[in-house]
Amino acid sequence: MYPIGFALSQLTLTNQIASAPLPFNTLGGLTMKASQRITTLLGGGSDGWGVFNRARQMIADGIPVTELTIGEHDIRTAAPILQDMHRAAMEGHTGYAAVPGTAHLRDIIAERVQTRTGVPTTRANVMVTPGGQSALFSAHNAVCDPDDTALYLDPYYATYPGTLRSVSATPLCIQTRAEDAFQPRAADIAAQAKGATSLLINSPNNPTGVVYSRATLEGIAQVCIDNDIWLISDEVYDTQIWEGEHISPRALPGMIDRTLVVGSMSKSHAMTGSRCGWIVGPEDVIEHLINLATHTTYGVPGFIQDAAAFAITQGEALEEEIAAPFRRRRAIAKNVLAKQNTVALVPAQGAMYLMLDIRSTGLSGEDFANALLDAHHIAVMPGESFGQAAAGHVRVAMTIADSAFEQALKTLCQFADTLTQTETT
Ligand code: PMP
Repeated sequence: MYPIGFALSQLTLTNQIASAPLPFNTLGGLTMKASQRITTLLGGGSDGWGVFNRARQMIADGIPVTELTIGEHDIRTAAPILQDMHRAAMEGHTGYAAVPGTAHLRDIIAERVQTRTGVPTTRANVMVTPGGQSALFSAHNAVCDPDDTALYLDPYYATYPGTLRSVSATPLCIQTRAEDAFQPRAADIAAQAKGATSLLINSPNNPTGVVYSRATLEGIAQVCIDNDIWLISDEVYDTQIWEGEHISPRALPGMIDRTLVVGSMSKSHAMTGSRCGWIVGPEDVIEHLINLATHTTYGVPGFIQDAAAFAITQGEALEEEIAAPFRRRRAIAKNVLAKQNTVALVPAQGAMYLMLDIRSTGLSGEDFANALLDAHHIAVMPGESFGQAAAGHVRVAMTIADSAFEQALKTLCQFADTLTQTETT
């Protein structure tokens, strides 16, 4: 054990994100064709990353930009976790690791899940994956056959529709409503549920910051039971709860055998680059998933898994310490937003984002975000990047230092106010 108050290193993000796609193979003048599945993965249309890409270009051109787009901590993985990773590697945990995950890490994840949810969970219910994203892919691969309907909710995390297409499922999006603060209505889901195979939900939610209530989750569970649907519950933000409580739908009556939970070390322990996540579900599905992993990822590096086990065993105090900057900035934001009437805050109950309603400006989220970037060099994500339900909103990631964050929000509100006045004069 080490003292929980260890210093978390601050750093500037020098980011990543792949750029242009690679050209297809050209062999002897013949252009080889990639599969239909992969060439249609993005579904066509705008990918909603225009503002983000413009901001990145400005930064590359030497123009300072306040970056509030991407959901990544402004700290890096804590030194004691890295030291443990180093220890594990130096002790030889660098060969192939057990494909389902090490017994040690699977046990620790099972224990964490059981403690947090009260649902009996053992190693046999857990498979370790290279991050939550891989878990989302694997979970859908486990339950969807080609052309099966896979439901998901709008607004959604940007990769969801592509993930569903990557297993040849047919994505079907159900809109939640701004007037409900984006809590899904069970009746809206039920209206599309007939014949569907799976439903993907995410609470705490990216991009809205909403935490699904018990009533919401019970309604969703009932739809799944009535329609014999798998529930895939993305809970990667489960340690970032500012209001209310995190309820895992796997703990609701009748759900344990039809729920696959996606978890990750990325957000809870600031280990985004370590690519370590998991799926929790029924034993027989986990067995199939292990076969899939054997033929795809072949597991997660052992030294990463050891460091993840070390990090989880530090307990809630460390998770709280990593969540603390977002909790603080959310309080700052509430304070800034309370002093004006132009921009409305969607209840920020969890996760590292704020969803701001800027409809009073008369602009779309995309136009507002572009105008804000031009006028003040502040980059936020248009609500339209996450589907249609959050049109007229922008998502703000709470991922920069408190004072800069406060200033950026004030500027955003003043800018919105100026636009509103221009509108009305
Ligand atoms: N689900 C949601 C809702 C996310 O926001 C993210 C990352 N931004 C992921 C899954 C995937 O995270 P990772 O693969 O890093 O665990």
